[in-house]
Amino acid sequence: MPSKKINRRKFLKIAAATGVAGVITATGVYKLTEFSSKAKGKIVIIGGGAAGLSMAALLGRWLDNPDITLIDPSDRQYYQPGFTLVASGVYKPEDVWKEQKDCIHSHTKWIKDIVKEVKPVSNQVITAENGTIPYDFLVLTPGLQINWEKTEGITQQTLGLGNAHTIYDFEGAQKTWAAIQEFSKTGGKGIFTDTYTKHKCGGAPKKICLLTEHYTRKQETRNNVDLHYYTASHELYDVPYYTPRLLEIYNERNVPINLNTRLKGVDTSAKRVYMERIETIGDEKITIPFTEDYDFLHFTPPMSAPDFVKESGLSWTEGKLAAEGWVMVDKETLIHKTYSNIVCLGDCAGIPTSKTSAAVRKQVPVAAMNLISLMDGKTPETKYNGYAACPIITDYGHVLLCEFDYDKNPQPSTPFTHLDMSREQAAAWHLKVSVLKPMYFNGMLNGYGM
Ligand SMILES: Cc1cc2nc3c(=O)[nH]c(=O)nc-3n(C[C@H](O)[C@H](O)[C@H](O)COP(=O)(O)OP(=O)(O)OC[C@H]3O[C@@H](n4cnc5c(N)ncnc54)[C@H](O)[C@@H]3O)c2cc1C
Repeated sequence: MPSKKINRRKFLKIAAATGVAGVITATGVYKLTEFSSKAKGKIVIIGGGAAGLSMAALLGRWLDNPDITLIDPSDRQYYQPGFTLVASGVYKPEDVWKEQKDCIHSHTKWIKDIVKEVKPVSNQVITAENGTIPYDFLVLTPGLQINWEKTEGITQQTLGLGNAHTIYDFEGAQKTWAAIQEFSKTGGKGIFTDTYTKHKCGGAPKKICLLTEHYTRKQETRNNVDLHYYTASHELYDVPYYTPRLLEIYNERNVPINLNTRLKGVDTSAKRVYMERIETIGDEKITIPFTEDYDFLHFTPPMSAPDFVKESGLSWTEGKLAAEGWVMVDKETLIHKTYSNIVCLGDCAGIPTSKTSAAVRKQVPVAAMNLISLMDGKTPETKYNGYAACPIITDYGHVLLCEFDYDKNPQPSTPFTHLDMSREQAAAWHLKVSVLKPMYFNGMLNGYGM
């Protein structure tokens, strides 16, 4: 299905009609035109993705005299939620990216470079080629790092070898689509895995599994494929309002779910996966290794905070978020627990919510408002409630639109209140395919539609 292009004017009309325009924070509702601040200070933003670019745009609008420097090495800005749709043939690869230079707010100075280290005690950022950059306030938004080397037998460069694929990579998503089409012709055993670390969009591995299943039905070859889903968690999904229907869907589609199982490695020449099932017997955890042969594999690589973040002493040192080095921020204010001139949001933030750009959309106004309070010497009061959304595509035409907060309570933000949102809906599919991408490029990255 071709994607529909929506220009900025049309987007703003849709945003107003659907009620997503305007900035709502815990302490009030701010229309962009209504809020401005004379606060001063040199702001450095590390990472110009969903979070960094949106912060630059919103701070650029809210501050009368913005002094904002963005450090990011990328030539392109990818709309990563679109990777799933590239991997299922709904979007073309060229639909999901724009030139980075065209996405950076005009008030922002861009240093095209890689950050190697942050020195939070002396307020300095060390770059690969541009030396030391001092800051008064730091916005930490470098996203996360994919640790390819933690799945034995696979590298980013060899993706696709042995029919082992992942949509957590732009090239990988394109190869996945070619492979799904071929798999629907040849048939065989399809294995889908998630991973044991926190990962971007926990729904993505489930979406590509369900889309593959529906694609084979559309091709009338479903009887030739045998699909299996493996999760490292002890349940398929942990938001109770949506879980029962999701389990029902896997059951209706005859895709067995295997719990507590990690992918350790892949023998691509033999098309064999090496897995570990963790069983709890009393107080003891027992690891049971086993292998499975496959014909098509979709895997999720382990992820963590970027190395430079871990090495700069900015990560949690204890608790569940320490192992992968997620940044130690207050989960409500998004301010660093040790260094109060640092805000952190997006995928690298060590907060107990889903790593999605939908979450970023709600974090940005909170982080921006609190940063301005800090610049003004005031106490930051705006609070993030953990909102995240994961549109789980259940087939070509339906989406289970999961929206929830820190307490896993549903947090519907769309005008679909007349529909039963604990079930998949066609309206949510149209939102996912036609509205969210223009909302990202034309709205969010310009500091609108939060
Ligand atoms: C397959 C897939 C499906 C997804 N599906 C959804 C979905 O359906 N819904 C949803 O809401 N979200 C989805 N997401 C997640 C969403 O894309 C991310 O949560 C979001 O992009 C996070 O924003 P971020 O700014 O934290 O990180 P990113 O957008 O990844 O940006 C990080 C930026 O930091 C830069 N950077 C990294 N290291 C450095 C460094 N050392 N120095 C300087 N710059 C650096 C990078 O170049 C990049 O530009 C999906 C993601 C993937 C991969």
